[in-house]
Amino acid sequence: MHRFFVPPEWMRGESVIINDELSHQIGRVLRLKAGDRIVILDNSGWEFEVKLIRLGLERVEGEVVGKRPATGEPRIQITLYQGMMKGAKFEFVLQKGTELGVTAFVPMLCERSVAMGRNKKEARWGRIIQEAAEQSRRGRLPILSPTVSFREACQKAQGFSLIPWEEESSRGLKAVLQSWLTGKTADQPLAINLLIGPEGGFSPGEIAYAKGLDILPVSLGKRILRAETAGLAAAAAILYEVGDLG
Ligand code: SAM
Repeated sequence: MHRFFVPPEWMRGESVIINDELSHQIGRVLRLKAGDRIVILDNSGWEFEVKLIRLGLERVEGEVVGKRPATGEPRIQITLYQGMMKGAKFEFVLQKGTELGVTAFVPMLCERSVAMGRNKKEARWGRIIQEAAEQSRRGRLPILSPTVSFREACQKAQGFSLIPWEEESSRGLKAVLQSWLTGKTADQPLAINLLIGPEGGFSPGEIAYAKGLDILPVSLGKRILRAETAGLAAAAAILYEVGDLG
């Protein structure tokens, strides 16, 4: 069944009114008909099975025929602070990170970042996240936060926070995660912040600043990963370690 995230105000009790581009996509592109069923998500943590009743050019009406808790959300909330990089690479991170199960993306301006002109891209980034979330059957849309400076990121990153750094030789991601998870029960909510550097990496001053705020430098192994690979690899490893991948 096709899945679509919609604004919550489109849900009206037992009926759903679908407007904008989505009505065109449902009627014209996917050629769905009255009686066909789709899944609607309003980002509330629920998903609704909807039977299509009337399909017009600019408006589609549906009736809710089932409601269940949305699945597809990982046990752990990963917030990925990603050092700003060229636009296409950042879009790759948004798409693949959404598929993997990242909860929130925060673009981060580091000393060695390249600017990526967020303003014009905002709507496009939102669409990339939404399409990836629908395709991968996420239950909620990942959040795309405003861009922050490196220092703001470090201050915002409350709780358990890691900063993968290729110069770190003694502390590996796996050991750090295993020790953090020791004693935690299977139903305990988990959250982690992950700070990934830009193509040029973090400066020594940035690493010192992060350490001062208890953000732990960790190694991702002996190979140097590209900036767009590092966050995704670390997110996948974290999800695997908590039993949410594989
Ligand atoms: N400028 C660095 C160099 O050439 O050695 C590489 C930076 S890397 C392309 C971008 C980011 O990915 C780093 O800032 C770090 O956060 C992460 N990263 C990549 N490989 C890593 C590794 N083996 N261990 C820990 N972090 C890594």
